[in-house]
Formats: sequence, C-alpha cells, structure tokens
Amino acid sequence: MKVLVINAGSSSLKYQLIDMEDESVKAKGLCERIGIEGSRLTHKVPGKEDFVQEKPMPTHNTAMEMVLAALVDPEHGVLKNVSEIDAIGHRVLHGGAVYTESIKVNDDVKRVIRECFDLGPLHNPANLMGIEACEASMPGVPNVAVFDTAFGMGMEPFAYRYAIPEEYYEKYKIRRYGFHGTSHMFVSRETIRFANLPEGQRRVIVCHMGNGSSISASVDGKCVDTSMGLTPLEGLIMGTRSGDVDPAVVQFICDHEGISVDEMLTILNKKSGVLALSGGLSSDFRDLTEGEKNGNEKAALALAAFRHKVVKTVGGYLAAMNGADAIAFTAGIGENDAQMRADICAKLEFAGVKIDPEKNKVRGQNVEISAPDSKIRVFVIPTNEELAIARETVRLA
Ligand code: ADP
Repeated sequence: MKVLVINAGSSSLKYQLIDMEDESVKAKGLCERIGIEGSRLTHKVPGKEDFVQEKPMPTHNTAMEMVLAALVDPEHGVLKNVSEIDAIGHRVLHGGAVYTESIKVNDDVKRVIRECFDLGPLHNPANLMGIEACEASMPGVPNVAVFDTAFGMGMEPFAYRYAIPEEYYEKYKIRRYGFHGTSHMFVSRETIRFANLPEGQRRVIVCHMGNGSSISASVDGKCVDTSMGLTPLEGLIMGTRSGDVDPAVVQFICDHEGISVDEMLTILNKKSGVLALSGGLSSDFRDLTEGEKNGNEKAALALAAFRHKVVKTVGGYLAAMNGADAIAFTAGIGENDAQMRADICAKLEFAGVKIDPEKNKVRGQNVEISAPDSKIRVFVIPTNEELAIARETVRLA
C-alpha cells in the first residue's frame, strides 16, 4: 500500500510518498511560494539528484498537479501511474473538540475543519485547501485527516479546562487542546514499544523540543496532560514563542506601546522565546550554545530559562502521574542536543533520573540513555510525524 502524506501550509505544501510494505520513503518534497511570485517545487528521491521546477503555482490545486506530475515523471518519478497511490493522509492542525482521533474525510469532516478556522487561522484553511486539491486531482482516493489536537483530547476536564467563566467554554470551546499531538502520539507509543514497557508501567513523559516545544504526560499512550493550550503559544519557552506569560503583560504592553492585541500576539509568537531572551541573537539552539561558550550572558540566560521551564514541567507531570516509567526526548533539540538532555536530566536527580554520558552521545536512532540504576528510564526517540500520519491513514483508509 502506498500512502501520500500531505502537510499543506498557507503558501507551502510538503509531501512524502511512503510505501507501507516496509514503511520506506519513496519520494518527498516541498512546494514553496504557492500563490506568490517565484513558486518552486523541490522533489527528492533517495539516491537521485533533487528535481527542482520553477513554475507559477497560483493555487494549491496547481501545486498538487505538479507534485503528481513529479511522482510519475519518467526521469524523476517513482510511480508509473498516479492510481498507484492508495490513500492520502493529511496533517490538520485543529479538529476542535469534535475529533478525538484521526478520521476519513467526508463533508462533515471538512465542515468541522472549516468551523475551526478561527482556532487555527494560519493552518486550518491551508489544510483544507490541501484536502480539496487532492480530492480534485485524485478523485475516489480516500483522504484521512490526522489532527494535531487529537492526542490532547485524551485529557480530563480538570487538565483541559481554563479557570475562566464557563460561558466561554460553552460558546467557543475555549479550553486547552495541546499540539504536536501526532508527534507525542508517535513517540509515546514508540517508547512503550522500544522499551517494552509492561502493562501498568506505561507512564511516559515526552519532551518534544524543536523550534516549537511541548511536553506531554501519557499513560498507555493516552494523554494525561500536555503543555500547549488553546494555541501552541502556551507552555514552554520556544524558539520565538514566549510560552506562558501573565495575560496582564499583554494589556500592559498594548496600553503603553499603543499596539493592538493582534500585534502583541505576533510579538509573543514570532519575536519572543529564546530569540528575545538572547537579546535577538538567535532562535536556534546551536547558535545559543555557541554564544554561551563565547561568554554571551544573554545566550546563557536564554538556555537556562528554557531548561528551567522544561524541568518544572517534567517535575509537574511526575507529580501528576505519581512518577513516570520513561522520559523520551525528541525533535531537533531533543534528538541532537546531548548537552541539553544531560543538563535537564541532572536537574531531575531528585526523581532518581540518571543518564549514562556515553549512551547520551548517540544520535539519530532510538536509544536508551539512562544508567542501569536510574529510577526512570530515559530515551531518545526520533519523531516521525509523516510515518505516524501514514500509519493512521492505513488504519482508516
Ligand atoms: P520544527 O519545530 O521546526 O520542526 P525541529 O524539530 O526541526 O523544528 O527543530 C529545529 C531546532 O532544533 C533548531 O532550531 C535548533 O534549535 C535545534 N537543533 C537542531 N540540531 C541541533 C543540534 N545539533 N544542537 C542543538 N540544537 C539543535
């Protein structure tokens, strides 16, 4: 079975064609600048040179047509015919409070995705365009929507409700949803599988630390709590996102600077986080680590603040689950930054966490990095959201 995985953004469309026989990636690529001048498709096939095409892509439909043409191209393609694609899996940001898991797309599903436009204004409209482009160019092929919010729907009301007047929950479903759900689902399940955790001992904390960062606590793969909220702005300090701030900060700055709430939210999403704490040095942890080494105090502050928030969140989840059986690190920082993992784990010594410095050096694969006498086992589990989407697609299509 061959599954095409689509992640459509407002002006971009990423894709992967996965052969589910062996879960191998046959081709992947990216359409950039859809609807704006300078559109470009970059198509990659393992073992071949990249195929780059610069051609106008006024809509997601034209982008999709170009992707399909690349997939069946005699020179750069991997398929003889588009009909070899058995199903399509779509990353969809927000399923609101309606969808607790992935679902095969029909008119109702599209309606809900549309109803959630105001909860995911940047992503949901694009995600829907991606679905409709596939329906137009591959009629009859099943589409599956995999929601980034679905994993967080496992939370109990005491974890997902905000302590604000009930009417806002009733009217608008203002609650905590959590994001990176596809990654948390994949990594928590993969940790249980890789660590062979027995039933009754499947309390897993996943630290997804990348450009955007979030942490989840789950039991048997069901989410107990997760750090993001109504939007991905809540929780940890991130590359350019502030994470938790006192909401009164918004009012204070808006009043004193004469800016709108919308402008303030752009600042909290795009100009804050470690980028801001490092005095504008960088949102990239490699630059911050380098900066700290060279004596840049603001870079050191940014790293320390990030670490502090991660440790407090993990500590909170340890309390919420009365301990944990495994902690897994994933995403750009979680998978690659051995020093950050070591520093975080050192601060979890109170919970009996102990890592093996030699094992902690490994990169790019599932690995247990804890010492044999660690009270909680610690892992690096590379995330693979596309594969998670493809597996969900096979299950449902
Ligand atoms: P996204 O959230 O965009 O998917 P990723 O999960 O790819 O992000 O993470 C990207 C981030 O990972 C980079 O901004 C960088 O901060 C961090 N990163 C990647 N490699 C390293 C490394 N070797 N050391 C430290 N940080 C790294």
